[in-house]
Amino acid sequence: MLPKSLFKSPNLRLERPEGAQEEDRAPEVACPGCKRVCALADLERELFVCSRCGHYHKVGARDRIRMTLDEGSFRELNADLTSRDPLAFPGYAGKLMQARAQSGEKEAVVTGLGLLEGRPCAFFAMEHAFMMGSMGAAVGEKISRLFERALEDRLPVVGFTLSGGARVQEGVLSLMQMAKVSGAVRRHSDVGLFYCAVLCDATTGGVAASFAMQADVILAEPGALIGFAGPRVIEQTTRQKLPEGFQQSEFQLDKGFVGRLCRRSEQRELLGLLLRMHGEAGK
Ligand SMILES: [Zn+2]
Repeated sequence: MLPKSLFKSPNLRLERPEGAQEEDRAPEVACPGCKRVCALADLERELFVCSRCGHYHKVGARDRIRMTLDEGSFRELNADLTSRDPLAFPGYAGKLMQARAQSGEKEAVVTGLGLLEGRPCAFFAMEHAFMMGSMGAAVGEKISRLFERALEDRLPVVGFTLSGGARVQEGVLSLMQMAKVSGAVRRHSDVGLFYCAVLCDATTGGVAASFAMQADVILAEPGALIGFAGPRVIEQTTRQKLPEGFQQSEFQLDKGFVGRLCRRSEQRELLGLLLRMHGEAGK
């Protein structure tokens, strides 16, 4: 059989005859690393890692659930919880509508219960297409409720973080989520329950400064930006040149902020192992 790639054109868009339907074509994605264009379905099979240059594409919350949890085991919690516009911040209502349309999600995090390699856990995945995973009141509330539910059901928590930080449009209400979530994480931890976070590109601001860094085991995807303020802000403030790879997960591993880097292909197995070890230790 001839390989499909034999017929692949680098730019089908230009060759399509006038009037041809966009929907006829399978969705394609260009790699930001090497510019390779490939079918979305192929990229999905490769766990959203470019097979040519190794670039880690961002993964949506639903894809994370599919990639990580046992098939069909996920039961979503608080799906309808959404942020309002408490400060009537200019443009925020429109931005929320746009984020919902772009991501297909009601908020920047999806939370629920599921099985990972046969082990029950509470699970959350943040959604980059929803305002870059920014944390407003609803995101904080969903994460807090997940930890409270995990505490009630005596479940471990596994979470994938990515965020631009607190949601400025909600002002101090978004900042107080850091304290609220931290309290819930602490209560869960105080009874000896396990929490593992996988830090993805980019985990910054109020999320990095709260529940992303409060896990018992902190894993990170290779090449992810992890930090509080971004490198440009730090350079401008301190007027110092930052070292190569500053705030990349490899750098943070070296500095002790991250416990281990974890490739996507290993994540399910490693998380399953951690849950199994903790389940057995807790008996
Ligand atoms: Zn690539």
